[in-house]
Amino acid sequence: MFVNSQKEIEQLREIIKNFDIKNVKIDGNIARCPKCNLKTQSISKHKIIEKIPNKIFENNEKFWECKFCEKIFWEGTHIKNLQKIVEEING
Ligand SMILES: [Zn+2]
Repeated sequence: MFVNSQKEIEQLREIIKNFDIKNVKIDGNIARCPKCNLKTQSISKHKIIEKIPNKIFENNEKFWECKFCEKIFWEGTHIKNLQKIVEEING
C-alpha cells in the first residue's frame, strides 16, 4: 500500500481504513522498536533507573526495552495521544 499522508496519525488512519482493520490496540507488550523492528520486552523500572530521567521514572510504571539497541520505551504523551486516536477509530 502507498501511504499518502505525511502525518503519522493520518498514515495510521489510511492503513486502518485500507485494510479494514478492526479493534486496533496499542500495547507495549506486543510493540516493536521503531529503530530495529525487534519486539520490545517488558523490563522492571528499577533495572533502568539510571537510563531514564527522574521525572519519567517517577511518573511511569511500565517500561519496555529493545534488547538490540537498548532503547527504553514507556507510555509517554505520544502513545497516550495515539491511544485516543485508536479509541476514536475503534468507536
Ligand atoms: Zn532497537
